[in-house]
Amino acid sequence: MTDPSECSIKVVCRFRPMNAAETAAGSRPISKFPADDTVNIQGKVFTFDRVFKPTTTQEQVYNLAAKAIVKDVLDGYNGTIFAYGQTSSGKTHTMEGVLHDFSQRGIIPRIVDDIFNHIYSMDENLEFHIKVTYVEVYMDKIRDLLDVQKTNLSVHEDKNRVPYVKGATERFVSSPEEVMDTIDEGKSNRHVAVTNMNEHSSRSHSIFLIHVKQENLETEKKLHGKLYLVDLAGSEKVSKTGAEGTVLDEAKNINKSLSALGNVVSALAEGKKAYIPYRDSKMTRILQEALGGNSRTTIIICASPSSYNEFETKSTLMFGQRAK
Ligand code: ADP
Ligand code: MG
Repeated sequence: MTDPSECSIKVVCRFRPMNAAETAAGSRPISKFPADDTVNIQGKVFTFDRVFKPTTTQEQVYNLAAKAIVKDVLDGYNGTIFAYGQTSSGKTHTMEGVLHDFSQRGIIPRIVDDIFNHIYSMDENLEFHIKVTYVEVYMDKIRDLLDVQKTNLSVHEDKNRVPYVKGATERFVSSPEEVMDTIDEGKSNRHVAVTNMNEHSSRSHSIFLIHVKQENLETEKKLHGKLYLVDLAGSEKVSKTGAEGTVLDEAKNINKSLSALGNVVSALAEGKKAYIPYRDSKMTRILQEALGGNSRTTIIICASPSSYNEFETKSTLMFGQRAK
């Protein structure tokens, strides 16, 4: 493990199994997995910190890609995990999974369990306060998923010049069940639109924040850790969806915010200290604190294994390589 006092970026990639539509269309798997950190698509080789093939379980992905960040957050560091990929590539499956099915739970419910198990195992001198916020960024507007009245929140800076979403509903939670209920509530408010890819594709970025505050009652030492869990909008190119009107505007917004994110992450990965273009999008502003500085970032690149999606898969993998 690298020194947590420096920002670190880890990029993993996950291929889901072929789906029924891909099989029915007569497409075939074109991804080969010659090593734990390598995928070969039709002769083009991509290397990441880790590559998960379609048979990898939710538990394996959690243990290898997310678990370490929980400890850092409990130690007072900030972190971000985000899932990037085209619609239907497995982002939500990876981040959330099937919330109420034990083996199919994704990263978020497992993180929540680990955080509470840690708290329950600590001695009584430590007092914990956990709060969560849940917002989405849609058409460059920040909406509160825990209060549908708040449709256009803005990013402000606190007295330490750290950006935050002003006025976002903060829920104090005291059990994993309360967190799951909060996620269910927020999810029902997420914006979905139908595209002609025959899918209800997700056109907004959702940002779930877990804020862990702890105080040692004996020494009065305080620690704060914030973990941002981000399920990004689909990264597919506009032309493929044959978009017009609102859908086209959505796609342009999505492209703009994803490329802003790519620029920030690649500037960080290159170790640029002087200028990181956080201000280029709302999302990178919101995540600024948890991307730069003393923080850990894990990017999970989600992809289809099928020949039908070869172009999108390569472009997705190239996004991931920029962060290396
Ligand atoms: P996205 O959020 O990227 O649009 P989803 O996570 O909703 O994609 O995945 C699309 C479909 O594929 C869902 O029905 C999901 O359950 C399924 N799926 C995705 N990844 C996997 C996986 N690793 N194993 C089994 N099913 C998966
Ligand atoms: Mg999704």
